[in-house]
Amino acid sequence: MIQVKDKTFETYITEEALRERVNILARQISEDYGGKTPLFLAILNGAFIFAADLLKQVAIPCEISFVKVASYHQMQSSGTVTELIGLTENIAGRPVIILEDIVDTGITMEQILQAVQAKEPESVKIATLLFKPDALQKNIQLDYVGFQIPSRFVVGYGLDYDGHGRNLPHLYVLKE
Ligand code: 5GP
Repeated sequence: MIQVKDKTFETYITEEALRERVNILARQISEDYGGKTPLFLAILNGAFIFAADLLKQVAIPCEISFVKVASYHQMQSSGTVTELIGLTENIAGRPVIILEDIVDTGITMEQILQAVQAKEPESVKIATLLFKPDALQKNIQLDYVGFQIPSRFVVGYGLDYDGHGRNLPHLYVLKE
């Protein structure tokens, strides 16, 4: 059991189990993208450890770019506009793989997807370390999923609680 700020968490998925699963995803991606040079788009901050561990095991030529997502409400029209900050690569005509830490309601991922698709890549696939199927509200296809988990709050391996805990090597779940 560990303490992050005012909350208590217990070990949920160990560093070893995470690495094993991430290596399998890397192998799968390497097979699926044989002969191609995919561009990985890692979503900061949460996906930084997942991206690093995954990329070390990707055995085909590839590039990686780290982007932040900024969402804001437009004054004139309805809806939210999502911008990818830090995306300097031209992704038009390229196979893109989005790397995310967790998909919960899917609202964030749907917006990221729209922002990426607007730049006309050859293809877009999604790799997420974690997926909470019970919370999903959007119809999005997750191509590579590390672990399906129940709707409980997790921290560690890149994911934070109020800015803390990203450095923890294992994944922890909030103690109920
Ligand atoms: P969604 O838009 O899919 O509801 O939410 C995705 C975002 O919510 C993730 O990128 C992450 O920042 C945050 N999130 C959802 N569930 C968790 C969780 O269990 N732990 C942490 N640390 N963040 C979460």
